[in-house]
Amino acid sequence: MDWDEYALWGGKIADWGAAYHKTLRDRPVRAQTAPGEIAAQLPSAPPNGAEGLDAVMADFETIVMPGMTHWQHPRFFAYFAANASPPSMLAEQLVNTVAAQCMLWQTSPAATEVEGVMVDWLRQALDLPSEYTGVIQDSASSATLSAVLTMRERATGYTGNRDGLSDKGALRVYCSDQVHSSIDRAAWVAGIGQDNLVKIPTHGPRFAVDVAALEAAIAADIKAGHTPAGIIAITGGTGVGASDDLGAVLAVAKAHDLYTHLDAAWAGSAMICPEFHADFWDGVAGYDSIVFNPHKWLGAQFDCSIQFLLDPQPQLNTLKIEPEYLKTSGDAVTNYSEWTIPLGRRFRALKIWFLIRCYGLDGLRARIRNHVLWAGELCEAIRQMEGFEITSEPILSLFSFRCPGSDDDQQRLVDALNDDGRIYLTQGAFEGRKVIRFQVGQFDCTRDDVMLARDVIADVWEKIQ
Ligand SMILES: *Cc1c(COP(=O)(O)O)cnc(C)c1O
Repeated sequence: MDWDEYALWGGKIADWGAAYHKTLRDRPVRAQTAPGEIAAQLPSAPPNGAEGLDAVMADFETIVMPGMTHWQHPRFFAYFAANASPPSMLAEQLVNTVAAQCMLWQTSPAATEVEGVMVDWLRQALDLPSEYTGVIQDSASSATLSAVLTMRERATGYTGNRDGLSDKGALRVYCSDQVHSSIDRAAWVAGIGQDNLVKIPTHGPRFAVDVAALEAAIAADIKAGHTPAGIIAITGGTGVGASDDLGAVLAVAKAHDLYTHLDAAWAGSAMICPEFHADFWDGVAGYDSIVFNPHKWLGAQFDCSIQFLLDPQPQLNTLKIEPEYLKTSGDAVTNYSEWTIPLGRRFRALKIWFLIRCYGLDGLRARIRNHVLWAGELCEAIRQMEGFEITSEPILSLFSFRCPGSDDDQQRLVDALNDDGRIYLTQGAFEGRKVIRFQVGQFDCTRDDVMLARDVIADVWEKIQ
């Protein structure tokens, strides 16, 4: 392909993209395909001869698109939104076009320096103290793994990487029983082990970790000769939005000199709105590591996860490795690949720059405030439905409910709703029962999109009786 043809197709694809987004409401949110249906339409062997992009694009439309679930659909209420605002998509096109691998300052100084400034813009937007620096990672899972590895190394006097873990005894990490599965996986991969990830029960209206039980678990572990290494707190758990008392958890960590990580992957974006701080953010200052995903609620196209660090040195001591071929110009510059597990890095900061400049923090705040408001209104509407039960009250824009009947009936309703296609929801488990989660967070959703869900739920429920 020559560059003139590239330009022609670039224009066509931009037009296609605008038309796609403008007509998204006409499509079923979740793909309506059976397993194997898409693969069966692809040749089983690669072509030896070249084809034109016309033919490839035609197949993209007829084979691939019917098998896509539309994450940018305004009635996507499943999981958490992975918002791709148009300016962030355009920034990604530029990043893809220049296609730099930004592992070191010298391999693209602008990528490193824009990243440093964007992390600081977001630090200010989230009202974190000026001591925090940070790094952009691909996902909250990677940031959490980095933090758990740092807990391990710090607790072993930075000897685990060198010696292995065989003589280190039981390193213990504490969290509530509402944390995301990425925390379990980090404990596995870091060599901590599932049995040494101590899960503490939660209580209260926001399902906060029971701090007295946390303190007791640490004391018991010390008595048993184990080595407490760190605590992971959450603001906005995945299931129902569980949020810890950050100050109280931090005080426990400080008393035992434990490294702290806060997972605010989806809810962190809402902390650009100061009115949510009293309930969800007070006490945050002092966490060693904090992760939030601009690629969820904020609108920076996937992938884009910010890890703030109070002091980057413990993580650098854990992850930095400098073979001869990576040595560059010394301490005057930041080489972000030393802060993370992968060496190679995309230029993820550009989409944050485009996003924040094109909406302003006020524009982004307005969207999030609406989502929280509408989630509350819809929750009230579902509460009025005969036999329906609200199983967890809205925490920011997330609540859960049950229809009348058994756990199987909940799944039957979820499946029927997603087959219907007008909205997309997912199930979760809470207090031993299956619940239906509802999360408002899609960038372009309107109040009508959200409130329509009530009628769709009533309609589909009626049909499956
Ligand atoms: C989405 C989410 C994660 C995982 O995020 P990835 O970026 O996909 O790794 C972790 N924790 C919470 C609370 C989340 O909502």
